[in-house]
Amino acid sequence: MRKTKIIATLGPSTSSPEMIRQLIDDGMNIARLNMSHARHDWLREIVNELRAAAKERNVPVGILLDTQGPAIRTGDLPTDLELKPGQKFTLTVKGEQSEEEHSVDVNYENFINDISVGDVVLVDNGTIRMKVLQKFANKIECEVLTESKLKSRRHINLPGVKVSLPALTEKDLEDIEIGLELGVDLVALSFVREAKDLQQLKAVMRRKKAAPLVIAKVEDQAAVRNLNEIINEADGIMIARGDLGIECPYEELPIIQRRIVKACLTSGCPVIVATHLLESMIENPMPTRAEVTDVANAVYEQADSLMLSGETTVGNYPSECLEVLDRVAVRTERSGGAGFEQNAEYTGSRQKLAKGAVVLANELKAQAILVFTLSGALARYTAWMRPRYSPIYALCETTSQANALTLHWGIRPIVIPLDAQTPEHNIELAFKTLKEKDLLHRGNIAVVLGSIATGSQMVDAIQMRTIP
Ligand code: PEP
Repeated sequence: MRKTKIIATLGPSTSSPEMIRQLIDDGMNIARLNMSHARHDWLREIVNELRAAAKERNVPVGILLDTQGPAIRTGDLPTDLELKPGQKFTLTVKGEQSEEEHSVDVNYENFINDISVGDVVLVDNGTIRMKVLQKFANKIECEVLTESKLKSRRHINLPGVKVSLPALTEKDLEDIEIGLELGVDLVALSFVREAKDLQQLKAVMRRKKAAPLVIAKVEDQAAVRNLNEIINEADGIMIARGDLGIECPYEELPIIQRRIVKACLTSGCPVIVATHLLESMIENPMPTRAEVTDVANAVYEQADSLMLSGETTVGNYPSECLEVLDRVAVRTERSGGAGFEQNAEYTGSRQKLAKGAVVLANELKAQAILVFTLSGALARYTAWMRPRYSPIYALCETTSQANALTLHWGIRPIVIPLDAQTPEHNIELAFKTLKEKDLLHRGNIAVVLGSIATGSQMVDAIQMRTIP
């Protein structure tokens, strides 16, 4: 069983009922819906389709709503503009009409206050670079540094600049409201800069009485600086390498990635490595050797999940991309991992209990760890300790509990009817279910983590069991 989870972003290439089923069969654990591009009617349709497909295939599939966040964008252009180094180019705000031949509007009024003369503005994934020469009341004059073509509605990055946009925009709030109404399992907040941004999102959720997992997208220098407080507030971290690789010098990116994965494994916070894992497969059926090595590196670091974006939204080979991730992950996992979890700072007694179960399972080379879990916490702690050999089967009562565990390394959530009063009956039912699914066989050793009855009391316990 593959331990590293796969998140696939859905888009034009993968929105049909057939493709959704295909991706589930290929091993997609979480479907990501990117609100930078999605419309609300599409969101409603796709969530219904995903739920129906997961039910039909009888596997948990998490749904991740990814907000656009405080993104700065250029406006519409009547035609693409050819830019040449040395040319003057004007960025306008508040509807200012520029007299220059080359100019475009920017969707963010405070742009002029946030930016300084000499700063470099990066447009369209950093392919267009401009240096700020002069600031006026409603426009900024720049010098073009790269030969390039500017199209409509391109994303702007301002590396190192403290942008004063709110953490949650009006659009984000509208998108989140619909996501919560549809019962998505995870919500990702873009351009998180500090823990307070996540607290705002959690407050919105509390008001709506909803509890999806909150994923913090680390994609700029402020987030890297405030990493520890963000990790403490988030249910998961996404290393959003697309923007992060523009906002930070690219030679820093591998170091930042490793630092974030290590910090997450120290704190027990799940971590997603995202973007450009198999970029060349948008056009080609085979990955480059460098991409295979990048994927293997993320798996070796023992990130919880790998995330595909363009590869599955607009790519020609979405199914092949999942096959590549699956093959590379399974092979790399067999060769062992970096062992960052050995620095884990676990303090709670249930965390120590999970550690005990993992030590036992490693010693026994057990065929499974079974965790009976209501809140999911015990299963998450077990996954955090990265058991060397044993898959973690998390026995859950409901589909939404199971969906919330689709993010975590090594956990296979399984829904069965559980009765808190009869733990032995639950264990027998779990063994029967796992045998029927061909996941366990007579004579296998399983470490079981859950309650046992001692007289009139229920206590947490670790058991070593042989499958009957
Ligand atoms: C990224 O920048 O890598 C990312 C995942 O964010 P988005 O696709 O939302 O820009």
